[in-house]
Amino acid sequence: MKAIRKIERKHGGISVDNIEPPTPKEDEVLVQIKNASICGSDIHAYHFAPTHHFIQPPVTMGHECSGQVVEIGKNVTDYKLGDRVVIEPIVNCGKCESCLKGNHHICNNFNIRGMHRDGIFTEQVAVNPKFLHKIPDTLSFEKACLVEPTSVLTHAILDRSDIKAGDLVLVTGPGPIGLLAAQMVKVVGAEPIVVGIYSDEDVRLPLIREFGFQTINTSEQSISEALNEKYGRETVHAVVECSGASPVFQTSLEVVVKGGSITLVGIFANQVEANLSTAVRKEISIYTSFSQDWVNFERAIKLLDEGAIRTEEMVAYYQPDDAVDAFEDAIAKKVPKPVFTF
Ligand SMILES: [Zn+2]
Ligand SMILES: [Zn+2]
Repeated sequence: MKAIRKIERKHGGISVDNIEPPTPKEDEVLVQIKNASICGSDIHAYHFAPTHHFIQPPVTMGHECSGQVVEIGKNVTDYKLGDRVVIEPIVNCGKCESCLKGNHHICNNFNIRGMHRDGIFTEQVAVNPKFLHKIPDTLSFEKACLVEPTSVLTHAILDRSDIKAGDLVLVTGPGPIGLLAAQMVKVVGAEPIVVGIYSDEDVRLPLIREFGFQTINTSEQSISEALNEKYGRETVHAVVECSGASPVFQTSLEVVVKGGSITLVGIFANQVEANLSTAVRKEISIYTSFSQDWVNFERAIKLLDEGAIRTEEMVAYYQPDDAVDAFEDAIAKKVPKPVFTF
């Protein structure tokens, strides 16, 4: 079966290989992958960015997917053939302090699919059903592969921010995570304003505006100037940082209102320099948000199924053989979210 694999420790260095299909163990099910999407972290892996040097090729890439159960280990009772599912990306140990506290997503011994272990950019994967979520028939496989990135934002905004209805919220970074963040901000009744730069003006910022959200292009206008023009104020109640651009943290400290909150979602490419005295004097709450837990998968399934969060406008479909094109189109910001059809 086909698998998109990281085979070399360098930029690119991927290959579409033929690998042996897995055989599920007694406590596993076999999932036929239907759709799988490229995450920002897969792009870091593709670049072989310093933040992702922990990856040991060869490894099958990918963690965002939807699929269908096609084989069941003999000890599995709660799944049946044909069940439509999505798969959690993080394999946890269940035994460490974080796991025992219920924080499985920050397990001390965690293993992320497509990073530390083989992922899901392939035709079939054997999975322990504790990492599966059933999806309703009304949610297509195409949409369901975006449950995982959507759940990153339900976690960030519902669990890891102070955002309340009526707040003005700056979302920094207009990529797929930023667009999902803006929609999630809207879901809770707050108003998102999405920030990008000149190179986002071709595809990403126009797409954000198509969703009816305000945008700021900081290559043309400062954030405070734009806020003043649009809202008659120079601060926001909260920031959701989705760009991973190091200078954005200092900017966030400056534009958030006294007593406001900042939620860091993006993985910073470089060390961050910031004046934390500003944060102390303004009593800003700084949250970090990593991945998601079980309940956020369930929330994301519901929001996508209801249409409260839309993904159709941000995706383009690729065959696995065109994996390099899919990655390069995402890097060139031509396609917000490439999706493979297996
Ligand atoms: Zn992801
Ligand atoms: Zn653990």
